[in-house]
Amino acid sequence: MTAELVISGGRLVAPTDAVEPVDLVVEDGRIAGILPAGEGPAARRRLDASDAWVMPGFVDIQVHFRTPGGTESEDIASGAAGAAMGGVTACVMMPNTIPPIDSPDMVHDVLAMAAGAPCDVRTSACVTAGRAGERLADIGAMYAAGVRVFTDDGDCVADDALMEAALAATVELRGGVISQHAEDPAMVSGGVINEGPVAERLGVRGRPAEAEISVVHRDIELARRTGGRYHVLHLSTAAAMELVAQAKRDGVQVTAEVTPQHLVLTEDDVERLGTTGKMNPPLRLADDVGALRRGIIDGALDAVATDHAPHHPSLKDCSLVDAAPGMIGVETMAAVVWSELVATGQMTPQRFVEVVSAAPARIAGIDGHGRPVAAGSPANIAVFDPAEAWTVRVDALQSRSLNSPWAGQALTGRVRHTVLSGSPVVVDSQLA
Ligand SMILES: [Zn+2]
Repeated sequence: MTAELVISGGRLVAPTDAVEPVDLVVEDGRIAGILPAGEGPAARRRLDASDAWVMPGFVDIQVHFRTPGGTESEDIASGAAGAAMGGVTACVMMPNTIPPIDSPDMVHDVLAMAAGAPCDVRTSACVTAGRAGERLADIGAMYAAGVRVFTDDGDCVADDALMEAALAATVELRGGVISQHAEDPAMVSGGVINEGPVAERLGVRGRPAEAEISVVHRDIELARRTGGRYHVLHLSTAAAMELVAQAKRDGVQVTAEVTPQHLVLTEDDVERLGTTGKMNPPLRLADDVGALRRGIIDGALDAVATDHAPHHPSLKDCSLVDAAPGMIGVETMAAVVWSELVATGQMTPQRFVEVVSAAPARIAGIDGHGRPVAAGSPANIAVFDPAEAWTVRVDALQSRSLNSPWAGQALTGRVRHTVLSGSPVVVDSQLA
């Protein structure tokens, strides 16, 4: 019998802890079997995974694909292509589009545009109508349309009563979660980068850590009171992380993600990166980076997500004050995290799979992704070469925008192949 696809000679990460290489047999979009390397059947298509890890496809639960309203910066096709190149088989778009994704019709529209993309593109939807922060959007109707993540990302849901009502709504909606951009708008008004010495040197207003800490503190208390599910987007401070860790110990339903940039870069990098180094919440201090790195390793933090935020050069070729906040990152997520944490011996490959695949899929309720590579599972796979050394060339990335903080960065580890529902979408680090 001839198999549809065999991924040959790679090694599996936990839970099987297989140290011997295997052949993965794929049929009808699923993993049909796992055999010792060399024992796989003849196949119509064969992907070489020798010297590489065969992992569940990565999952990025915070991407901005700028559709509708910002397609000069990115669209779903370019965003999904970058995701596939990064081994990301599923992602969740943020709803701060123009207009915002705040109705079932909008949800259906953007998901229809994502059909056929080389990544399983999902969308979140607004907590408040029009992201205006005045009244709740129809969360129940958008849940019925398939949405699991609700957020006003880009803006914080600041009003206590609205946030409480939103969290309360998730109690009835199994798998639904309120994802917060945790920065108190009053405290960050006019703020450009982290409040601290670099902001002072550059003569710009700062965004204080307290703006994040106070919102996370309030939201945890609301989640505790309502029993609702709460997720912190792009958490950036050591103190907010401690609040999340304590709330988890208390049994509150809270999770938190961290971006690759907040695990590596500090406010000092803003002077080198210029407007590319501007994002919200801002790059913080070395002490925060150290704490967040420990947190993503020991479980205080749950997941890595990129906040992939493309901006057309016209939105970044200006002053730091006027520049749009955000950095691209979906295509480089896995390689940056691997280089910084796994290749340096601080994180195991098992924990890597947890934070870039399993946990984000669970948080955002993404079925069919983030599951162990095992017979019967959907064949959403990233084949990752842990030793390949490469240098990020921004003009070679798939994004329509250039605002990567990793330009010229030497990385260790690269996605070799990406398989989506059994179909290779990236082969030998090229789009198929
Ligand atoms: Zn945000």
